Amino acid sequence: MDDKSKQKILCVLYEDSGKYPPEYSRETIPVLPHYPDGQTMPSPRSIDFTPGHLLGSVSGELGLRRFVTDLGHELIVTSDKDGPGSKFERELPSADIVISQPFWPAYLTAERIARSPNLKLAITAGIGSDHVDLQSAIDANITVCEVTWCNSISVAEHAVMQMLALVRDYIPQYQWVVKGGWNIADAVSRSYDIEGMNVGVVAAGRIGLAVLKRMKPFDVKLHYFDRHRLAPAVEEELGLTFHENVESLVSVCDVVSIHCPLHPETEHMFNDELISKMKRGSYIVNTARGKICDRDAIVRALESGHLAGYAGDVWFPQPAPNDHPWRAMPNHAMTPHTSGTSLSAQARYAAGVREILECWFDGRPIRDEYLIVQGGGLAGAGAHSYTEGNVTAGSADASRYKNRSG
Ligand code: NDP
Repeated sequence: MDDKSKQKILCVLYEDSGKYPPEYSRETIPVLPHYPDGQTMPSPRSIDFTPGHLLGSVSGELGLRRFVTDLGHELIVTSDKDGPGSKFERELPSADIVISQPFWPAYLTAERIARSPNLKLAITAGIGSDHVDLQSAIDANITVCEVTWCNSISVAEHAVMQMLALVRDYIPQYQWVVKGGWNIADAVSRSYDIEGMNVGVVAAGRIGLAVLKRMKPFDVKLHYFDRHRLAPAVEEELGLTFHENVESLVSVCDVVSIHCPLHPETEHMFNDELISKMKRGSYIVNTARGKICDRDAIVRALESGHLAGYAGDVWFPQPAPNDHPWRAMPNHAMTPHTSGTSLSAQARYAAGVREILECWFDGRPIRDEYLIVQGGGLAGAGAHSYTEGNVTAGSADASRYKNRSG
C-alpha cells in the first residue's frame, strides 16, 4: 500500500435516533486489564471517544472521524447499505477500505467485490466476518480482519441470559405484569428450573467456553462438541462431556447454545433432520449466526412443540425483513442483533478498529489474532476457525426491511 495516498474509508453502521448523544444510564464502564486468555486489549496509540458512549451507530462513527480526516483520508459513514441505489452501493466502487458490523452488515458479495477494484481491506467492527464472501476476498487478495475477543464475553452473558429466559419462560411472565395481570398459573405453565438439565454448546471457542464456565455454578450437566478438543484439565474442572459429533450432543441435551462461526461447514447445521434428533421440549439459543439454523425448520419445530423455545439475537439476513417468520413464531425470546454491541463492547471494538487502521496506514502488520483472510488465503484466527467459501447467498433480502420505529 502507498501509505501517503488518500484512502477512502466506507463505514457502514447501524441507524440511530439522531438524538445524539443519548442520556447515558451510567457514568463509566469497567476497565479490563486483558482478555480471559491473556490476550491484550485493543491498543491504538490514542482514542478520540469516551468509553461507554454510543459508538456503533452512524452518529458515533466508531470515534474515527478526527483520526481519519487528520491523516487526510476520507471517511464516509452510512447506514444505507442494501439495494442497488443504496449509498453503500454507490460509494463502494471507489472505496479502499470497508468497515462494517455483524449487527448491521454491509454484505460484501462476489458481485459487490467485483465492482470494487480499489478495495484492499475489509474490517469487521466486531467478530464474525461471514457477511464478506470470503472466497471472493481470497481471490481478490483483500485483507479481512475482525476484533477478536472484543465482544465474546458480551455474547456469552447474553446467551446465558437467554437460556434462563427460555427455561424459566421469563418474557411471558414480564408481559403479564405489564398487562396488569397476576396470572400465576398461566405464567408458570411453561416454567422450569435449569438445575439438573443437560446443557451443551456447539463449539467451545472463546464464547462457547465462556458460556460453559458461566453455566457451571447452575449445577447443570455440561456438554460440548467442537472440531478440536479442550485440554483435559479444562474438561475436568468444568465436568464436561465431549461429543464427537453434533448429533450425539443434541440427542442428550435439554438446552443447546450455538457458538461456531458461520462458514460452509456450519450453514444450516440445525435443519429438520438434526432438530428431529433433539429431545421433545429442547431449547436452542443461537447467538452465533442466523444461517446456522434453517429458518423454516426452526419455525416448524416450535409450532409442533418439538422445540420448547428458541432464542438468540442473530438472523438472516440482517436487518430481518419485517415479515421474517422468526418475529412471529411461538415461544421465542429473540432480540435484534444486540448481544455483541453493548456500550461496553463498543468501546473495545471501536478501539480495535482504530488499532487496525493505525497498523494499515503505518504499513505495520495487523495482529495475527485479528486476521481472517490475508495474502490470498485464510489467515490467523480465520485459518483456525473458518473454511473457504461463501455464505452470503440470499443477503439481498435485507433490502425488504423498513424501519417502523418512527
Ligand atoms: P472462536 O473462533 O473463539 O470460536 C469458534 C469455535 O467454533 C472454535 O472453537 C472453532 O473450532 C469452532 N468451530 C468452527 N467450525 C466448527 C464446526 N464446523 N463444528 C464445530 N465447531 C466449529 O470465536 P468466538 O467464540 O469469539 O465467536 C464465535 C462466533 O460467534 C463468531 O464467529 C460469530 O459468528 C459469533 N459472534 C456473535 C456475536 C453477536 O453479537 N451475536 C458477537 C461475536 C461473535 P476450532 O477453532 O477448534 O476448529
